Amino acid sequence: MAVSKFNPASAIEEAYAVGQRLFGESHAQELVPKATSLPKDIKWHFIGHLQTNKVKQVVPYAEVIESVDSLHLLKEIDKQAGKIGKRQKCFLEFHVATEESKSGFTLEEAGPMLTSVEFQELNNIEICGIMGMASQTDDMEQVSAEFRQLKSIFNTIKTKYFATSTAFCELSMGMTHDYPIAIKEGATLVRVGSGIFGERMYN
Ligand SMILES: *Cc1c(COP(=O)(O)O)cnc(C)c1O
Repeated sequence: MAVSKFNPASAIEEAYAVGQRLFGESHAQELVPKATSLPKDIKWHFIGHLQTNKVKQVVPYAEVIESVDSLHLLKEIDKQAGKIGKRQKCFLEFHVATEESKSGFTLEEAGPMLTSVEFQELNNIEICGIMGMASQTDDMEQVSAEFRQLKSIFNTIKTKYFATSTAFCELSMGMTHDYPIAIKEGATLVRVGSGIFGERMYN
């Protein structure tokens, strides 16, 4: 997946012209104008921290919301998807990095949520996999270990809660600086931004 956040529509058009169809965005205020103005066969994944008050804007355009990190958020996604007659694909985000700033469930938090009545009542969402980020470090052994941990979480969640679901199959991990390691450790989807578009201009 090409992560196009902070890049202009023209950069996406350039990638589109050579065949790229899957893009990642992390802010509602960027996703919406891009999704409405760019070709309709583009698939958009939402990968940023999502506030509940932005869910309504994101749901119509996101093929997948990868960054689901609470039941509260999932309930709002379910509600907004229901309003437009959509079944919203979601990944659960897991926290394995050492940085406190990164969000996501732990396995201990996700288990009780997935067995709760509240979760089972959500009919307009479909959990299709998990997403995670490794620590920002040059210690590639640590990065490998964190990706292995994500793969292990994926296997546990799949076996315990989604054994009969064919939809639950994606393990989204790996960015520009660590995607080859992520692939080695079992990623089914990597999220590459600066490696494709160059350094982002934050302004
Ligand atoms: C920005 C971002 C990426 C892409 O990062 P690069 O280092 O530019 O490849 C991947 N995943 C998430 C969740 C991001 O926010």
